[in-house]
Amino acid sequence: MLPAAQFAMAAADIHHRTPEFRAMYQRVLGQLRAFIGSKNDVILMAASGTGAMEASVSNLTSPGDRVLVLTAGKFGERWTALTKAFGCQVDVVTAPYGQTFALDAVRAALKPDTRAVYMQATETSTGARHDVAAVAELLRSAKSEALLVVDAITGLGTTHLEIDEWGLDVVIGGSQKAVMIPPGLAYLSVSERAWQRMETTKNPRYYFDLRRERKSAANGESAYTPAVALIAALGAAFDYIAGQAGGDLAIGRDTLIDNAETCAAMTRAALPAMGLRLFAPDAPAAAVTAILPPEGVDSGVIVKEMKTRFALTLTNGQGEMKGRIFRVAHLGYFDPLDTLAVIGALEQVAHDTLKTPGFKLGAALAAAQQILSARTKQLTATRQ
Ligand SMILES: *Cc1c(COP(=O)(O)O)cnc(C)c1O
Repeated sequence: MLPAAQFAMAAADIHHRTPEFRAMYQRVLGQLRAFIGSKNDVILMAASGTGAMEASVSNLTSPGDRVLVLTAGKFGERWTALTKAFGCQVDVVTAPYGQTFALDAVRAALKPDTRAVYMQATETSTGARHDVAAVAELLRSAKSEALLVVDAITGLGTTHLEIDEWGLDVVIGGSQKAVMIPPGLAYLSVSERAWQRMETTKNPRYYFDLRRERKSAANGESAYTPAVALIAALGAAFDYIAGQAGGDLAIGRDTLIDNAETCAAMTRAALPAMGLRLFAPDAPAAAVTAILPPEGVDSGVIVKEMKTRFALTLTNGQGEMKGRIFRVAHLGYFDPLDTLAVIGALEQVAHDTLKTPGFKLGAALAAAQQILSARTKQLTATRQ
């Protein structure tokens, strides 16, 4: 976690119905809008990311509404479960784990009465990136009335999203991912079209009533007791991100995205030398890299070795992908030097534990170093 956020949390000993809190809340909401990169109103809630996912179903649909879910992993499946839980009639476009969906399939599944489309920007369970811009364009060219709702919980801060230009109606983020603070806050941007939809939708909502939160936010308050310490931490994280770019939060966010892209590209380049392969080679996300272990090896062995030898936390696959893949995160408080350390540790595991045939220590690091050098040159050139 970001050290400055830890200090901010420890110092955030203020009551939430005070001018002091209202000033902080308004400041953080302003920063949040700049970070997300939209003119739309943003809502901050005390919940994990799934709370904001639920809010974007309960607030935007009525029982019986036809919706379209695009899914290729565990988080996509959450959209299916959530929309069904709220009584929607759910059409689903699926792609195999590790892949992204074909646009033709999306076009074919979109009906004149589709009221909303739910998707991920990056599917954290498989390391795949979905083409949000293309789906938005498809909805626009089809003159669809469907709202586009994007779970960007690991997409924000790792992937460029032009929310207003593409017309993304709801974009969701969560505190424990790219903004480097503990779990417990979810946030979302909401378009004017989506606010209007809420005037007529009938699904039940109470704690996650977005219109009520919007009203309170206009007065610098939250409807219920806010997670004061986490909000202070979020403000400190935004200060840090802006500080990376001379105080400009939008440029700081782009720097954060470049950083994730660099770490991900370094990791991808390092794999072949160690006999490891990408799980989502066609559309890899910058948020996280999902990796296939060598044939016949349980990925849990690699996760465990990394933990016991180097105190490094990689994650195993979720659900039925457990044992089949492992994942390296690039979002948040990681930089290229951390990535070199992770690759160095993976080299040790490849060499000593997996005994990868033909592998020479340093080969994966050399490949990653080449990427870092090339990307640094490229980024320096584009910034001049
Ligand atoms: C982490 C994550 C979520 C939210 O999970 P919570 O446990 O509710 O915070 C949702 N979608 C994606 C893509 C995620 O990575």
